[in-house]
Amino acid sequence: MLIEEMTPEDCRAMLRQQRQGFGRLACCFEDQPYVIPIHFCIDGEYAYSFSMAGQKVDWMRHNPRVCLEIDDIRSRDDWRSLVAFGLFEELPNTPAFRFERMRALELFQANAMWWQPGSIALEIDTHDSRGTVPIVYRIAIERLTGHRALPSIDASSSAPAGNWLGRLFRPSGARP
Ligand SMILES: Cc1cc2nc3c(=O)[nH]c(=O)nc-3n(C[C@H](O)[C@H](O)[C@H](O)COP(=O)(O)OP(=O)(O)OC[C@H]3O[C@@H](n4cnc5c(N)ncnc54)[C@H](O)[C@@H]3O)c2cc1C
Repeated sequence: MLIEEMTPEDCRAMLRQQRQGFGRLACCFEDQPYVIPIHFCIDGEYAYSFSMAGQKVDWMRHNPRVCLEIDDIRSRDDWRSLVAFGLFEELPNTPAFRFERMRALELFQANAMWWQPGSIALEIDTHDSRGTVPIVYRIAIERLTGHRALPSIDASSSAPAGNWLGRLFRPSGARP
């Protein structure tokens, strides 16, 4: 297997494919990281999502620096993975955020199988009352990196896994 860095263009192309994306959102409070699976919709430089009130929203309000990992795994040696570094931006139900919320609503509606939090219906246009209405937010993506694995055509890579494992775990000082 070969692992290579994806070009910025390939990263952008993979991101654009995430109309109804799934990934792992990482946030951090003080020195404690927290990673949770979420769905999102990509629009330009933004990943839109929503959530009920809870730990991740509390933490992102406290520290808006977040990271989103997105992958496309076809097999153990054929995969792509993006890491998007960005900023949490809450889109509250106020006139100042009307345009952004309408865009979020369009994106969510375009994805029929959108994940719904528990049994609570999505009521983006009702006004917020903590705990009953989803919090709409987006991640402004500032930096993107990508890695891709490709099955190797090099004959040496088809050697038994024990060969490289043996090298990895060779006691220090032992002869190669
Ligand atoms: C496939 C999939 C898709 C999802 N899509 C979304 C989405 O689009 N939007 C969304 O808001 N949520 C989504 N979830 C649920 C999400 O992962 C969180 O569980 C949920 O959002 C609650 O997070 P919270 O920080 O508000 O937790 P809280 O309700 O505040 O609970 C916090 C506590 O529960 C634990 N906890 C929270 N989530 C998880 C978890 N997933 N696994 C294990 N322990 C957990 C934490 O460690 C913490 O102790 C999805 C989950 C899955 C599996």
